[in-house]
Amino acid sequence: MIVQQIVHPSFTSNTYIISNPIEDYVWLVDIGNFEGVMEQIADNKRINGVFLTHYHYDHIYGINKLVNKFPNCQIYASPHTIEGLYSAKMNLSFYHETPIIFEGDKYSFLKENDKLNLFPNICLEVIETPGHNSGCLSFKVGDYLFTGDSYIPNNDVVTKLKGGNKEASKLSLEKIKSKITPQTIICPGHFAIQKYGNKME
Ligand SMILES: [Zn+2]
Repeated sequence: MIVQQIVHPSFTSNTYIISNPIEDYVWLVDIGNFEGVMEQIADNKRINGVFLTHYHYDHIYGINKLVNKFPNCQIYASPHTIEGLYSAKMNLSFYHETPIIFEGDKYSFLKENDKLNLFPNICLEVIETPGHNSGCLSFKVGDYLFTGDSYIPNNDVVTKLKGGNKEASKLSLEKIKSKITPQTIICPGHFAIQKYGNKME
């Protein structure tokens, strides 16, 4: 399994491509920078689905371009995140130049402990991590832990935006840290991937 990080040049949000060289499809975690993703994907591969950590515009910015190019691409997220895809005020894009309202209708709700097979023998596990926003999810795939804005190493979690909750965030951070082992590779919603080693903050 290969994980590639694609940064959005102005929002700094990360999109991750999860691939397996022998398969003709890939998966994404978040979709901030669609053009950047396409530059990395071979012409013969399709995007099967995207797992959304939350609905803030910088993490979903490319979602309509994505479903236009790949009409069968499935969106996986919490019910609250799916709701926010259809509301430019909820996803905060209303306050930016280009309001984003999801034009697709292929989505699946995720909840705590859901497990989905990405590739043979490679499973994604869903972890509910509310706090930055009530619909926040994190995803564990092997040693990789995709934490969105629920945990960005060396940064405090932002809980001041609408739907944020400091107490919930504290509990979510404890939960995330309980999943971390020396082998864990943290893939946050912004900034660098962090190999955990023995570091615990
Ligand atoms: Zn956010």
